Amino acid sequence: MVVFDSVTRRRVRVGPDIGKAKLYACGITPYDATHLGHAFTYVSIDLLHRVWLDAKLDVDYAQNITDVDDPLLERAAATGVEWRELAASQIKLFRSDMEALRVVPPGVYRGVVESMDDVVALVAELAQRGAVYQVGDGCPDWYFSVESAPEFLAGRDLESDLATFAERGGDPDRPGKRHPLDPLVWRAERPGEPSWAAPVSAAIPAPPDSRGRPGWHVECAAIALKALGADFDVQAGGKDLAFPHHPMCAAQATQLTGQRFAKAYLHVGMVGLDGEKMSKSRGNLIFVHKLLAGGADPMAVRLLLLDHHYRSDWEYTADELPRAALRLERWRSAARVAGNAASATGQFDPSAGIRYAGELLNGVRTALADDLDAPTALAAVDRWAKKPGTNPAATALAVRVVDALLGINLG
Ligand code: ZN
Repeated sequence: MVVFDSVTRRRVRVGPDIGKAKLYACGITPYDATHLGHAFTYVSIDLLHRVWLDAKLDVDYAQNITDVDDPLLERAAATGVEWRELAASQIKLFRSDMEALRVVPPGVYRGVVESMDDVVALVAELAQRGAVYQVGDGCPDWYFSVESAPEFLAGRDLESDLATFAERGGDPDRPGKRHPLDPLVWRAERPGEPSWAAPVSAAIPAPPDSRGRPGWHVECAAIALKALGADFDVQAGGKDLAFPHHPMCAAQATQLTGQRFAKAYLHVGMVGLDGEKMSKSRGNLIFVHKLLAGGADPMAVRLLLLDHHYRSDWEYTADELPRAALRLERWRSAARVAGNAASATGQFDPSAGIRYAGELLNGVRTALADDLDAPTALAAVDRWAKKPGTNPAATALAVRVVDALLGINLG
């Protein structure tokens, strides 16, 4: 299959011939429930996972949880909930939303807190290699030097990168940094914040018993390397991770391993509402669990997401859910009618039904193999639903195709 690699900006073949595929998806920061933007990201990545499983590949899929981070700690402080409790409750809600949307879970699902030893070891290794320096007095913070990773800076547009870096949590103007794009890898302990023992490196003299917590990029680098090793097939996430997060992960991991991090990058479009990107900071969120609590069929929610190509940015409008629910009902009634017609008459046209189901299977497989073109795959199901035939075995095959490849349960 091919996907559009957003780094080389080319369509590249993914899914190796060796029977094994490795996928890493950047996970959530658990301080707020799953909104439609998250759901679109993980349902889109789920399509890649399903295509690989359908191709009989042995898939290693790892996803992290950023379970200690500024917005989580801020939300915990603002609501008076202990940060670990807040994270645990939001992880539970995210997982139940994913389960309702029938997202096949990753084999490795790891939080930063439980991976702290690996993250600290990676920071120490980077320091040993001279890629880390300190900024600030007393208990300084540690930064990764992007100049130590020449491939990171090659061909970049510094002006636009600096603006994006600042917008997405970077601190380009902090005095004492060697390069404005250098990312934080270790934040010295601040009063009232959770902390862990600092990395130990002869290259970076830290006061005894100094503590702190890691930066975001190095966390994903450590968790991905531990779960998948270097040179895995795809790193995936929302489009807002295309810079700086993914290139920073790659620069840090490559510094350590000398190998490529991910072979290709899959970036999912942003979901908007009322002319703005759906985001926590803007507060314009549509939550999956609220749609479900309001009576929405989770399969209709999944279907409305699949009706958008994963690379497109789109706006959620109120008519999408009823439209998806109608489509789902048409598909379900095709599955029912085909079965009923056969049992009522005791007769059916086996060849027609087999042909229709075969066309459905080919249509869905071909569309998804072409850069996960879900809208075209849905159109193939629409064609089948208009003319499903009355062969029960063929109908059962069609139902399995829609279930296995698109994750839509027609039962
Ligand atoms: Zn990540």
